[in-house]
Amino acid sequence: MSHTNCISTLLDLKDKNITFSKNCIQETQIKNVRSKLILGTLSFQPTHCYHCGHSFDSNIIKHGFKTSRIKLVKISGFDAYLDLKKQRYKCRHCDRTFTLETSLVNPNCFISTPVKQAIFLEASHKKSETDIARELNVSHSTVNRVIHSSYEEQPLPFNSLPKVLCFDEFKSVKSAEGAMSFIFCDASNGKLIDIVEDRRLSTLRTYFMRFSKAAREGVTHVVIDMYAPYMTLIKEVFPKAKIVLDKFHIVQLVSRALNKTRIRFMNQNKEFYNKFKHYWRLLLKAQEDLNATHYFYSNCFKKMISQQEIIDFLLALDPELKETYDFYQTVQQAIKLRNLEIFHHAIQHPSDLLSHEMKTALKTLTHYQDYVKNTIETPYTNGVLEGINNNIKVIKRIAFGYRSFYHFKARILIIHKYTFEQKKKRNQAV
Ligand SMILES: [Zn+2]
Repeated sequence: MSHTNCISTLLDLKDKNITFSKNCIQETQIKNVRSKLILGTLSFQPTHCYHCGHSFDSNIIKHGFKTSRIKLVKISGFDAYLDLKKQRYKCRHCDRTFTLETSLVNPNCFISTPVKQAIFLEASHKKSETDIARELNVSHSTVNRVIHSSYEEQPLPFNSLPKVLCFDEFKSVKSAEGAMSFIFCDASNGKLIDIVEDRRLSTLRTYFMRFSKAAREGVTHVVIDMYAPYMTLIKEVFPKAKIVLDKFHIVQLVSRALNKTRIRFMNQNKEFYNKFKHYWRLLLKAQEDLNATHYFYSNCFKKMISQQEIIDFLLALDPELKETYDFYQTVQQAIKLRNLEIFHHAIQHPSDLLSHEMKTALKTLTHYQDYVKNTIETPYTNGVLEGINNNIKVIKRIAFGYRSFYHFKARILIIHKYTFEQKKKRNQAV
């Protein structure tokens, strides 16, 4: 391996036109930091004049050098720079001069491509930008710029959309237009498609109308939580899509109603206060999961008791509580077993004794029963978004509050892309 080859391999330089002489590595103080400085030369015969485009001939002549200092990725923990002597040429056809260009840096830029790639790679991990900047010896604004540019390079394909979409929202950064930002992904694989600053109807309508009519009409299902503006939006922009309510949110609706009923009952009946307070989780537990054979000592009951006996005791105290509990269990069962008959029977023949909290929930369920039907008849859920939402929380924490929404968004997309590809690789390996 030649001298130049060794150094090019070490620095991972792809440009074969950069050569190195024998004593090309120096140790020196740069900006008061002990650094490694490498001296290289960029020289080759250009095919044409960079200005007028005239093909190379004897009228394009060498015209000295221009040296620029380019930031490299650290070497053995030291800041590293390349002083690159770039050959200049003079073109007699247009009477102008030009300097040779290299793939190592963009013209008029002093940060090498490997450094930019390193920034991008680091940004795909859950790491703060200040840390990335320090580790790679660049400024915070360089890190910002690279994250921005990498994200702008990937425009959305406005003529295609997945068949099944998941909609969700998350609490955004302070600078964002709306308090909640909107996020949507492909239900089949959890791939994040985009983030919209503001989840309000007018913003989302404008956003989705940018997609072609064919792309929008190709959407068959959209999974959402019970947020009415999404329903209006879907009818307008995805005319052929069925609305699917997320399973988790349906169960949450009835479990909250049951919980409110319990709390009200608990406050009205102080003698059972402790029992209701202590065993609230058991009430929400699916009935078939209650253990009837294992006995344990309960301080509230002052005796050995099973989970089943506790529930039987609490429900026997009040018929309203019992009916409310049964309704909750039935709805939960219907969703879990994906049984439409059970669900319809439950909402069509409710007990008069249901608590007023549960009656409100029932009203919502009846109102949205067509969408709940879609939930029961399809396997789609918003569960795939859970990982993304966790990532968003981490990003917010490491960034100490993003000031710019677009920056925040770029970072989410980069990290998601990275984790998504890792997951894909793992799945392929299995
Ligand atoms: Zn020229």
